[in-house]
Parts: sequence; C-alpha cells; structure tokens
Amino acid sequence: MNILHLIALAGSLLAAHARGAEPIWDGNQVDMVSEKLADGVYAYYASNAKELNAKGGAAATSGGLVVGAKGALLVDTMLNKRLNSQVQALSRRLGHKPILYAVNTSSHGDHTYGNMYLPAQTIIIQHAQTRSYLSGHLDDDKAFMIKHFGTGRGIEQIQARAADLLVVPGGRLTLDLGGKTVDIIDFGFAQTGGDLWVWEPQAKVLWTGNPVIAHKPALPWLLDGHLVATLDTLRRVYAFLPADARVVPGHGVPMGKEDIKWHIDYLDSVRSQVQAAVDKGLGLDETVKQVAMPEFSGYALFDWVHPALNVPAAYQDLSGK
Ligand SMILES: [Zn+2]
Repeated sequence: MNILHLIALAGSLLAAHARGAEPIWDGNQVDMVSEKLADGVYAYYASNAKELNAKGGAAATSGGLVVGAKGALLVDTMLNKRLNSQVQALSRRLGHKPILYAVNTSSHGDHTYGNMYLPAQTIIIQHAQTRSYLSGHLDDDKAFMIKHFGTGRGIEQIQARAADLLVVPGGRLTLDLGGKTVDIIDFGFAQTGGDLWVWEPQAKVLWTGNPVIAHKPALPWLLDGHLVATLDTLRRVYAFLPADARVVPGHGVPMGKEDIKWHIDYLDSVRSQVQAAVDKGLGLDETVKQVAMPEFSGYALFDWVHPALNVPAAYQDLSGK
C-alpha cells in the first residue's frame, strides 16, 4: 500500500476502531485450529472464525498446509511469533514432515511477519512485487500494522526475511512435494499487485489470501485501488475453478466456488453505479452518497470499507481523477 492509503486508512480506521485502542483482531488472543480438507491438505483458521464470518465480523488470518511424501508447504506465516508458533505446531502434528516451502499470499504483515520464525531450510516464496515492496517499506508496514493491531502484539520485533523463490508477474510455479503437486499462481492484480493464489489440484483446494476475505457478508478491501483489474482477476479465478473446488479465504473458514460470486457481484455493482455517477459528472463526495449499496452492509467493516475505501478507489479508477 502506498503512503496516501496509509494516511487515509489511519484516519478512517482509527475513528472506526475506538481511536486505535482496540485492535481489529487481537494477535495475543487468537487461537489457530486446523480442518482437514483431504489427505495431507489442511486449512488453518482462528477458532472463532466461523462465528465471526457468520455475523460479518473481522477474523484473524487463515492459511493452511499441504503435505507430500517429501515435505510440506505452509500457506502464510501469520502476524507474530505466537501465531507462527501455533501454525508450526499444527504443521508438526499434522504433517510429520519438514516445512520445505512457505508461501506469502501478499506483502501484508499478517501473512508475512512469521517468515523469520521458520526453520532456516524453509524456502520462502513470494511474488516479485511483494519482495520489492517489503525490501523498501517494512518499517512503514510495521507502523501501519501496529496502529491497527496494537502495540505489544509482537509486531515491534519483526525483522525482514525475504523470499528465496519468486513468482514473476503473471507467473505460475509448480512444486512437487512428493506424490502431490501445488501450483502457486498470479492471476493478476487482486489487492496489492503481489497477490499469490495457492492451488492444490488433486484435492481441488484454493487458498486466496486477502483478495477474498471470507464468505458473505465480507467484502473486498481495495487498499491499493484498481477496482477494474481486481474484478477481472476475481472473474479469472472463478472461471479457473472447477464447480466442486474448496476455497480457503484469507480471513475465514473454507467455502465453495459459488461464494466467490458475492465478491464479484459486489465489485460489479460498485463499478456500474460509480460509472453512472461519473457519467453524470458527480464529484467524489456526491458519488459516495449516491452509491450507498445498503444490500451489502452486513459486513462489520462496511462503513469504512465501502464509502472510505472501495467507492473512492472505483471513482479514481473510472474517472481518472
Ligand atoms: Zn490479511
């Protein structure tokens, strides 16, 4: 995310979250649990994620593990040492195999900060864009994360551990874990421009990272703008998936392919309504008022995500202003 977004976010989120006193979710409280999706294929999520997802609340980061005969691949490394230790403990118990690879689905701290706590032999995989963003912005990113997730949550201690293996823009990496392959795919701009999706083709499981936060009523966060590209990417992901695929979102419990439609429908409505406002010559403030979309307001962060983030992002994208 760039500095303008940081400033805009700091203002709006702090107002929405008790002036910064209360974290969006608490990295000192969350407990990670696992769910078996197929042999050697597990989703990780917070023990309260199901309940929070159902009422549109903000759940902690989800991830997972794929285990082959040679070793395992971890999806996302969590916010802090505490949560990283929990997923490493789950991985030891479930995999009985070393973690050969760890994928960061984006540059966001809740998906990357745990890299430094993994064994030295683990190969860290990032999108090239994520690596270049983090190499120059880790301190900004930590300041942003401390603001929204609190002090004393293990963020202050984080040091960079950069990727060993990169996925190039538009690229796809296939890894052989021994009797099981995993594809790491860039489907295009989805939230940060360094977004990776992890696909396990045998069990038909896709990890999405943040571009898909959770099932309905959660909504996408266009933190870095680009509504049109994000919508196109989600449509590509939807078209890629077989009908019976399972989807592990970035902050929730496993869902189905059709649950992605909610996010596509939302972004499509934002696009057409903001386009209509732009065509009428409305300014940003009037557009935000006009594009209220109360039918999507069940998400706990709606009053921030929709009027303060997504509609302005769409306005900028579609008006060029
Ligand atoms: Zn996240």
